[in-house]
Amino acid sequence: MPKEKNIIVIASNNPGKLRELSALMKGLDVELHPQSDFNVPEAEETGLTFVENAILKARNAAKVSGHPAIADDSGIEIDYLNGAPGIYSARFSGPNATEAENNQKLLKELEGVPEEQRTARYYSSIVYMRHGEDPAPIIAEGIWEGVILTEPRGEGGFGYDPLFYLPEHGCASAELSAEYKNRISHRGIALRELMKKLEKELQETC
Ligand code: IMP
Repeated sequence: MPKEKNIIVIASNNPGKLRELSALMKGLDVELHPQSDFNVPEAEETGLTFVENAILKARNAAKVSGHPAIADDSGIEIDYLNGAPGIYSARFSGPNATEAENNQKLLKELEGVPEEQRTARYYSSIVYMRHGEDPAPIIAEGIWEGVILTEPRGEGGFGYDPLFYLPEHGCASAELSAEYKNRISHRGIALRELMKKLEKELQETC
């Protein structure tokens, strides 16, 4: 009898993230669904750390959908701003902020700050919950170092990518191809670590 594919729900409504996570997970023998397929309402991100928020989002999606769920909570930390915006990256310039507004605010906060003080990093915490009450979710993390530009560059990626300069590549993350970004980004690093653990677990079930 052909085995039914396992369903995994991606606990995000962010199109940029959904695109990246789906591409990164396409090697897994599972059926991926965005949480909107199960009418999962947005989880309240009340945690104070990336990992807490990722757990809240994955738990919410697993509970509502009745399927295992995967969530990424990510953001950018700017050294000159003592780590801000961090977990508030999506809401940096207000509750319904657009990506362009957030980028403008970041440029303003760093106006006149010399390059050597514009260091920053993306952080991603990814969580897999087998069900809504899973007491031992699989957790992985990824970090990606860069420098904040003084003006946007590139059309790719999403969020802060046009301002995130990669000195070793000589370009902004918005200038990388989607495939290459996934290969080296915080989300790529975290997800590959998570997939190693997940693949093992999926193989073990019959
Ligand atoms: P979250 O959906 O609460 O995890 O918010 C993540 C926010 O962090 C996004 O809305 C972006 O502002 C920022 N962010 C995270 N990862 C990336 C990335 O790969 N590129 C650009 N911005 C990112």
